[in-house]
Amino acid sequence: MKEIESVIEFHRKNFDESVANVADESALQRLRNLYLSRKKGHVTQLLEKLREIKSADKPQAGQMINALKTHILESLEARSREFKKPAKDLDEIDLTLPGWKRVWGATHPVLDFQAEIEHIFLQMGYSIESGPEMETDYHNFEALNFPPHHPARDDWDTLYITDDLMLRTHTSPVQIRVMQKKKPPIRIIIPGKVYRKESPDPTHLPMFYQVEGLVVDHGITFAHLKGTLEHFLKTLFHERIKIRFRPSFFPFTEPSAEVDIGCTLCNGEDPECRVCSGTGWIEILGSGMVDPQVFKNVNIDPEKYSGFAFGMGIDRTAMFAYQIPDMRLFYENDLRFLRQFQDK
Ligand SMILES: [Zn+2]
Repeated sequence: MKEIESVIEFHRKNFDESVANVADESALQRLRNLYLSRKKGHVTQLLEKLREIKSADKPQAGQMINALKTHILESLEARSREFKKPAKDLDEIDLTLPGWKRVWGATHPVLDFQAEIEHIFLQMGYSIESGPEMETDYHNFEALNFPPHHPARDDWDTLYITDDLMLRTHTSPVQIRVMQKKKPPIRIIIPGKVYRKESPDPTHLPMFYQVEGLVVDHGITFAHLKGTLEHFLKTLFHERIKIRFRPSFFPFTEPSAEVDIGCTLCNGEDPECRVCSGTGWIEILGSGMVDPQVFKNVNIDPEKYSGFAFGMGIDRTAMFAYQIPDMRLFYENDLRFLRQFQDK
C-alpha cells in the first residue's frame, strides 16, 4: 500500500510541474497521452497494477488512482481553457492569483568559477580568446618549443586522431594562433577544455578546464608577471592569502616559475592535512617569461618585444576555493552536490 501511495504521489508531483510549464495545445496533448493513453499512460498502468494488490487494499488504492485521474483531467481541461481564451483586458487580470512555479536550471560550478576568473581579468583590460579543442601537432607542441621526441611530451600524452591531429593537452596553442594573427600589444586569457592521458582520481581527470594568460608588449618584465598574478590570486581567494614563486621548467617559457598559495584548508597548521600533505602550500599555477624561440616561431621580434604567460587548472583551483576533497564530484552529475553552488 505504501508503495503504490508513493508512486501516485510521484506522478501527481511530476504532472503538476509539467502542466505548469506547458506552452501550447500540442504540448498539452502530449502530456495527456503520457498520463492517460489507453495502453501506456501512467494512470492506465497504475490501474493495471491494482491486480497485484491485496484485495483488502484494493478499494482504497482504486480510489486514490481515480482521484489522480480526475485531478489530471481537470488540470488539463483548465489549462486548455486558458489557451483558448482571448487575451484579457488588463483590468480583468487578477494579479493576486499565485503564479506558475518554474523550474530553473543553473550554471555548472566549474563554469561559474571560470566566469569569476574572467571577470577579474576583464577588469584588468584583458580580452578573452578561444580556439579549437582538436589541435595540430604544430600548434600543440612544436611551435611551443616541444620538438618531436622532446621528453616533456611524455607528461602531455593525449588522444591522437591522426599522427598530426590530437585533443589539445593545454590551452597554450591558442597563444600561437593569436600571435600568428595579431601583433603586440597582446593581453589575453584563454579558458577552455583540455585533455590528458590520466586515470581519474581525486586530483586528476582525463578532461579538465584550464585558463591560460598571455601578455606581449614592449618592456614587459618578471615584475609585471608577479604583480598581475598576485593581484589575481588575492582577488580570487582573499587579500591575506600567502603566495610564493618557485623556479620551474616549461619548454615555452624562460625563466619559469610555479606559483603556490598557502593551504586553504589548514593554513599550514595541520601536519596531516590531506590537501597540502602538511607542507602548508598548494601548487596553483605555472608561469614564466615567453621563450624568445616561441616569439621567433610566430614572427615576433624578441629583441623588441617581451611577454609573460601563465596557466592554471580551473576545476583544480575551484576544488581548493570550495574545499572539495575530490575533483570527480564536479562531473558525476549528482544534483545534491551541484545544487549547493546554485546561489553562490
Ligand atoms: Zn593544508
